[in-house]
Formats: sequence, C-alpha cells, structure tokens
Amino acid sequence: VIRLKNVNKWYGEFHVLKNINLEVKKGEKIVICGPSGSGKSTMIRCINHLEEHQRGDIVVAGTELKDDLKNIELVRREVGMCFQHFNLFPHLSVLENCTLAQMWVKKKSQKEADALAMKYLERVRIAEQAHKFPGQLSGGQQQRVAIARSLCMEPQIMLFDEPTSALDPEMVREVLDVMVELAEDGMTMLCVTHEMGFAREVADRVIFMDAGEIIEQNAPEAFFSNPQFDRTQNFLQQII
Ligand code: ATP
Ligand code: MG
Repeated sequence: VIRLKNVNKWYGEFHVLKNINLEVKKGEKIVICGPSGSGKSTMIRCINHLEEHQRGDIVVAGTELKDDLKNIELVRREVGMCFQHFNLFPHLSVLENCTLAQMWVKKKSQKEADALAMKYLERVRIAEQAHKFPGQLSGGQQQRVAIARSLCMEPQIMLFDEPTSALDPEMVREVLDVMVELAEDGMTMLCVTHEMGFAREVADRVIFMDAGEIIEQNAPEAFFSNPQFDRTQNFLQQII
C-alpha cells in the first residue's frame, strides 16, 4: 500500500532524503530507527504529503503523490498519523476531538460521529474521559485520545512519529499496549520509535536510517542479533 522509489528531498541545499526505496505491504508493521537528524520524520511526513519530495515516486493507497495533487484529502483519509506531541485541540473535549474531522471531512451526522468516536475511545480504554478536555488528562491518556482520533477516520495505514518519547516512563506502556493491539488487528503501521521491545514484539521489519539513507533493514531477530553495518551496531549500542 506504500511504495517509495528513489525518493530524494532537499531542504534548500541540504539533502535530507537520499534515494529512499521502500515498499510496505498491506498489514505490514515497520519500525524505523536511527540517530537524530537522519530524516526519519521527514520520510514519514512525505508519506502523508505534509512535506513534498523533489525527485522519485511515492505511491500511497493507489495514489501517486505529486506537487499538483488535487485530491490530497483522499490520500490523507487513508493515512492516520500520531506525533510525539499529541496535537489535540485544547478547547475541544476528548469526544469533540474525535468527531470534528468525521463531521467536516466525512460529512457524518453528530450521532454517527459520536458512536464511532465512543467505539474507538473504548478501544483505547478512555471512554470514561470522553467529556474531559485534553489539559485534564495525563500525557499517556492524551496520546491514546490522539490514536483514537486518527482511527475515527478509519485509515488503512497508521504512521507514528515517536509517539512515546514525550511521555513519562510509567505512561509509555499504556500507549505501546494500544499500538500492539492495533498491530494485532492487522493495521498497516510505520512507527518511528526507539522502543526496541515494541520492535521485537510487533515489527515485521526494522529499518535503520542514517544521514538521509536507509542503511539496512531486516526482521527484528536478525536486525538486533546480527546488524550488518558498523553504523547500525554503534547506534544499537547507544540505545539498548
Ligand atoms: P529526530 O530523531 O531528532 O526526530 P529525524 O530523523 O526525525 O530526527 P528529521 O526531523 O527528518 O530527522 O530531520 C532531518 C534533517 O533535516 C535534520 O538535519 C533537520 O535539521 C533538517 N530539517 C528538518 N526539517 C527541516 C525544515 N523544515 N527546514 C530545514 N531543515 C529541516
Ligand atoms: Mg523526528
């Protein structure tokens, strides 16, 4: 459902993505790791067209992403995204955060939107907080709301960019548990994370990026026990 072919991107003179090739099949779970500044977020953001690439092809859910793309909303509907900072609307309740896009983008009625929102809030085990505001919740709870909000658009693909790295340690697990369940339900997932336990548990493939390139990728077992490149070994030594 995702294909990147020889993708290159520059920020001005700075070559941030260098000949990225990546294919993700429906239902696959990919973990992306690598040092700070290696281009992980940029690659993820290109996949839902928050950033534009300059060379190469990106095809997502059957649509090629080009600069002049008119139906970007159609692609974004298929791709949910969760960030490090949850980006919830602070002045809307948890429930309203989950219904807004359903009503505006998908033109659902309030009743339909509420019902689906409650289904996903239950799934992330936070339904009882539906009428609170984001500021009244812990970081872990807010991140679970952000995941539920994305799921309300019923995407085919979920992108995660360091969803647990802004959380206190005791809240990391509750968010990872939700992500593991989502993986078990068959969601196609690309996760930038340094949670290597999660990678071992759910990833079909772990990708290591450095300086704008995919250096290596492998099944978690092989990736961790037998990294092929010095750069990967050095990185793993630092984080494990
Ligand atoms: P981190 O682990 O710190 O999140 P990352 O692998 O996600 O890092 P990116 O955020 O993709 O890295 O950034 C890759 C490089 O591109 C960095 O050197 C960064 O400074 C640069 N960069 C990112 N966004 C921009 C921008 N909007 N304009 C210019 N340079 C940028
Ligand atoms: Mg990043």
